[in-house]
Amino acid sequence: MSKIKVAIAGPRGRMGQEAVKMVLETDQFELVGALDHRHDGKLLQDILPGVKDEIPIYGDIKSLLSSLTIDVLVDLTTPDVGYLHTKEAIMHGVRPVVGTTGFTQDQLSELRELAEEKGIGVIIAPNFAIGAILMMKFAQMASKYLPDVEIIEMHHDQKLDAPSGTAIKTAEMIQQVRESKQQGHPDEKEIVTGARGGDLDGIHIHSVRLKGLVAHQQVMLGGEGQLLTLKHDSFNRASFMSGVKMCVETIMNLDTLVYGLENLID
Ligand code: NAP
Repeated sequence: MSKIKVAIAGPRGRMGQEAVKMVLETDQFELVGALDHRHDGKLLQDILPGVKDEIPIYGDIKSLLSSLTIDVLVDLTTPDVGYLHTKEAIMHGVRPVVGTTGFTQDQLSELRELAEEKGIGVIIAPNFAIGAILMMKFAQMASKYLPDVEIIEMHHDQKLDAPSGTAIKTAEMIQQVRESKQQGHPDEKEIVTGARGGDLDGIHIHSVRLKGLVAHQQVMLGGEGQLLTLKHDSFNRASFMSGVKMCVETIMNLDTLVYGLENLID
């Protein structure tokens, strides 16, 4: 069986470096190129010392896509460029596996439509860690019986988007199974702005940003005289790589957009 040809956008980033390592270590994958806006024309080994193969770097998505034959583009960049990369990849017939978080609902809808139109697989996964996916699924299951829910997500202080894509996805999954409701006292007043966090259909989401953290989330479900807390921690970025690997394999057999890894596991 021929290898899956993978390109990585954002190879110098914290997630990107792990992804480069994972792709190079996976026999059935071949890393054919990278996209880094600061290192156009260089080789990956010039910027990542551990890399031995001669892998070309392109400074923009159009040159990358037109210069190489690529099966899958793994995007681990920032919301604005990640969205553009994904769109260009779809237009070009290259399947995007997107770990970049912070896309708007409008952007997701547009990408979904584009994927349908082109009949191409797209995976947008706010969280690649299997434990986090299970936490979301358990939270959805539990919220049928304990519909009063608040989410606390905690990340490193370099994260650009808040709340996290995982927290938004968790709230959306809960929204699918519980009646819409407002939580807390109807007359509550915020003495400090933002004290009650963000509000997604009545589900309050609190974002903590601190040095030393990686990616952590608690879903708290309250009932009469009881509290169920579901908690997941990613202690390092390697925790996400088995999910990226699964997506690169799975996307080869998809012809539509899948948003969230929970839709790919039983
Ligand atoms: P990071 O360390 O800041 O890496 C982002 C990379 O994107 C950097 O190398 C950055 O380069 C590059 N970049 C910025 N603008 C670019 C452009 N115009 N063209 C090409 N590359 C550009 O961030 P990270 O922690 O790796 O996270 C990357 C993304 O993955 C974020 O959206 C994060 O929320 C998400 N994430 C997802 C998961 C998941 O499981 N799905 C897990 C963790 C993180 P410069 O340094 O030059 O700006």
